[in-house]
Amino acid sequence: MFERYSRQTVIPEIGIEGQKRLNKSCALIIGCGALGTVIASALVRAGVGKLKIIDRDFIEYHNLQRQILFNEEDIRQNLPKAVAAERHLKEVNSGIIVQGIVSDVNYANIEDLVRGADVILDGTDNLETRFLINDVSLKLKIPWVYGGAIDSSGMTMTIIPYETPCFRCIIAGESYATKGLTCDTAGVISPAPWVVASLQAAEAIKILVGSTSINRDLIVLDVWVNKFQYLKLNGRREDCPACGQNRFEFLDGKFSTRTTQLCGQNSVQVSAPGNIDLSFEKLAERLRSAGQVDYNEFMLRFNVDSKEMLIFRDGRAIVKNTDDEAFAKVFYTKYVGT
Ligand SMILES: [Zn+2]
Repeated sequence: MFERYSRQTVIPEIGIEGQKRLNKSCALIIGCGALGTVIASALVRAGVGKLKIIDRDFIEYHNLQRQILFNEEDIRQNLPKAVAAERHLKEVNSGIIVQGIVSDVNYANIEDLVRGADVILDGTDNLETRFLINDVSLKLKIPWVYGGAIDSSGMTMTIIPYETPCFRCIIAGESYATKGLTCDTAGVISPAPWVVASLQAAEAIKILVGSTSINRDLIVLDVWVNKFQYLKLNGRREDCPACGQNRFEFLDGKFSTRTTQLCGQNSVQVSAPGNIDLSFEKLAERLRSAGQVDYNEFMLRFNVDSKEMLIFRDGRAIVKNTDDEAFAKVFYTKYVGT
């Protein structure tokens, strides 16, 4: 078994002991896009014993430019990202457990999803989920690695609960929550997220083998102008609502909404009101009188009046070709229910 990992066990900081630790560890990746697919690939190949990867979305052609786990066949099969990722990662390493979870991470389910993980990797594209990860990381005392990339630039930092500054020590969550979270519509070239994801994967490996050499800066980089900056962070903020005062406002659902604009996609996600397990068969029967319907075991696609809606088993839907959250909610209610 260890022959497979010989190129990393030869590194003194890892060794056979470190490899055993990796094999006993569980890593959780939230978001399976450009960052998540690279992190997942690195950790599965490194022999992390259990990898859970969560994503709410399906694969589209414009994802293939940078999301390394997916291919054209996955799109033809209408696979959600988490399902395709699990399939491909299992082909890479059959000696570990890989679990893809199709779900929208929110304040109501994140604690259950995260419990048992030894490290959380941020592969998301929005601040709201990052603040949620930050809260749950502090509450359950699980380290997490923030990552973000846009255009040709990227950022990463490592948060060890109650030791390093947390995400809210650096970014004031309230202002984002009350203003509404803005979407990035800028483009991205693949090397930017890949560099960030590689740094995140290295951090995860270091955390899991118990190394003390973790990154304590905010790393900011730009691959176009070849610039790496290491910004020294001040200590933890005493007045930080999260790590200073243990008020987990995002985890408590204080800022949660039922609709979310999906970044750069001209789509709105409407989340379901509670725990739902939809029967696509029954729903399809009902919707066929109103428009065009097709579905597989993971999602149902509904077209009517030049509008398209993708509905997932958990009752969540993505309304396409609109950024109007009020319209999306009405559209959802009309066809799926309240
Ligand atoms: Zn803090």
